[in-house]
Parts: sequence; structure tokens; C-alpha cells
Amino acid sequence: MKHLLLLLTVLCCIACTPQSTYRTDSGRVFGTYYKVIYLAPNNLHAGIKEAMQKVNASLSTFDSTSIISRVNQNDTTVVADSLFTLVFTTAQQVSRQTNGAFDITVAPLVNAWGFGFDPTRTRSQGMLDSLKACVGYQKIQLENAKITKQQPCVQLDASAIAKGLGCDVVASYLESQGVQHYLIDIGGEMRLKGVNNQYKHWRIGVQQPTEDSILVSNQVAAILSVSNVGVATSGNYRQFYYQDGKKISHTIDPRTATPCNHNLLSTTVIAPTTMLADAYATAFMVLGDKDSIETIANANGLAVYLLYAQSDSIQSVYNTSFEPYLLK
Ligand code: ADP
Ligand code: MG
Repeated sequence: MKHLLLLLTVLCCIACTPQSTYRTDSGRVFGTYYKVIYLAPNNLHAGIKEAMQKVNASLSTFDSTSIISRVNQNDTTVVADSLFTLVFTTAQQVSRQTNGAFDITVAPLVNAWGFGFDPTRTRSQGMLDSLKACVGYQKIQLENAKITKQQPCVQLDASAIAKGLGCDVVASYLESQGVQHYLIDIGGEMRLKGVNNQYKHWRIGVQQPTEDSILVSNQVAAILSVSNVGVATSGNYRQFYYQDGKKISHTIDPRTATPCNHNLLSTTVIAPTTMLADAYATAFMVLGDKDSIETIANANGLAVYLLYAQSDSIQSVYNTSFEPYLLK
């Protein structure tokens, strides 16, 4: 009788436990799309949304009440939370590693070139020169959750790192719920773990930019097989406009105050976290030079894949750490 009861209890539990299936959650966040595929018995939409909201509340320059916006408004009562602190300290590290090519104090320049939270398209050389005084990662410090600026005009733009952080925060949430297999994609930046529904590492494509940089093709330049990493691609072929026949891209070199304009079309970085992959992908777009990119990538244990225009074709180059991820 005891055994029968036990058997009935076990059978009942199996019948009542929802089966794990691959679920898809998608929508819009941070001014772009997101898509999450995860293997779980329950729908985790509410928690995924909440994780993204936390990032927004801390780092969105498009929300005037976020921590980053309050820093930009010189609100003296603002206190940095853990996400702001993580992004700020990581950004400062990447700035040091890339000789200032990556710099979240680039905000005044991003705005001046028409891409930021306060865009304008009228600028003069004099104005750009004077804005240089407001830009530079050494001009702002964070200590004991308090921000100090050398100049009140120093402002922050976390757009090149926040989507990556968003992927990492959603990943932490999913893992806290016991999820071991997932793909998180926020506007093309990704975090992956475990396997897909074919029991294989996740397959993702690196988009092929078109040579004239006007049309974006749907072709892929490479297919990657990845797991347990963050992946980010940065490109100058999606966000740009033309002015006086010159291409104005959304990646700005903080050291010269001008948009990057060289033959590098996209950079794809694989790193332990998507936040790092995201930041370095943008930094490498600024650095442009293949040799310096490889030096920095190798020194920081990053896998990097570059697409650049040469004569009439698009060429790829990657470091040895990237090779194991390439399927095609
Ligand atoms: P991409 O996918 O091309 O990297 P991101 O959104 O990740 O695009 O980053 C580009 C954004 O980062 C710009 O729109 C701007 O807000 C900001 N940005 C531009 N130049 C820099 C820079 N040198 N360092 C840090 N952030 C930058
Ligand atoms: Mg980026």
C-alpha cells in the first residue's frame, strides 16, 4: 500500500510538472528589438521584462529620470546603483585599454553630430573644438557611489555598452531561474548558453555589409557556432547620414571629435560577457587599424572578426581565438 501511494505521488508529480520547451519572447527595448529563446518549463516573460527595465532605469539617456540622465543633469543627489557602477567601471577599463577610442563621455559629441539624446545637426569647427573640453574619460570619477566631474559639461552616453549589459542582466535572471540553454539578442548583441533545440551550439550569422554602405544586404559573411559567451557586432553601415557628400557615421572618435570614416565596415567581438563584447566592438570601429585591433584583442583575450572594404570587395580578417567559432 505504501509503495502504491509513493508510485501514485510520483506519477501525479510528473503529470503536474510542466514540460520544458524552447520558448521565444520578443518585443522592443532600448529603442531596438529583443528576442530571447530559452528552455524552461514556465513562461518567464515578466522577469525578462523586469531585468531590462532595471537597465533602462539606470542607463537610458532617453529616460530623464534614469541615473545616467541625472548625472548628465548635474543632479547632486544622485547615487550610483550596482548596474551604473558596473558599466562605469567597465567603460573606464575599456577606455584605458583602447587609448581612449572607447569613451562614454563622448555624449556631447554624439549629440553635436545628431545621434544622441539631444541631437543637433548644426555644428561648427569652433563648437566641436570647445566641446573637446567636455570629453575625456579622465574628466569624471566615481567613488563611494558618488560622481565627480572636472567640468559640469561632461555628460555620459552608454549606448555602446548598455545593450550588451542588458543581455548579461537577462542571462543572470534566466540562470537564477535554473535556465541552462538560452539565446538572448538585444539589437544584434547576443549572449548564449547551452544548446539550441537541435542539441547543437547556437548558430548565428555575421551580416554582410554592402560595399557602398548604403544598402544592407541580408546575406551573411560568416556563420558562427557559439555557446557560453557574449557576441557583439559594431558597424558603420546601419546608423549614418550623408552631409555635403560625406558619410557621417554614429561612431565618433572622441580624440578628434569627428565621426569615424575608414574602410573598416564591421567588427564582431566574442567575449565572456556581452557588455565587454559590445564595448570593444565599438572601440575597434574607432581604432580602425587591423594591427592595433589584433594587439588589443589578443592582450585582452578577445576573439575578433573584421570586415573591411578593399578595392571592389569586402575582405575578412580574424585572430586565432576567433577561428574555432567559424562554421563558414
Ligand atoms: P554599434 O552596433 O554600431 O556598435 P552601438 O549602439 O553599440 O552601435 O554603439 C554606437 C553608439 O555608441 C553611438 O550611437 C553613440 O551613442 C555611442 N558612441 C559613439 N562613439 C562612441 C565611442 N567612441 N565610445 C563610446 N560610445 C560611442
Ligand atoms: Mg556597441
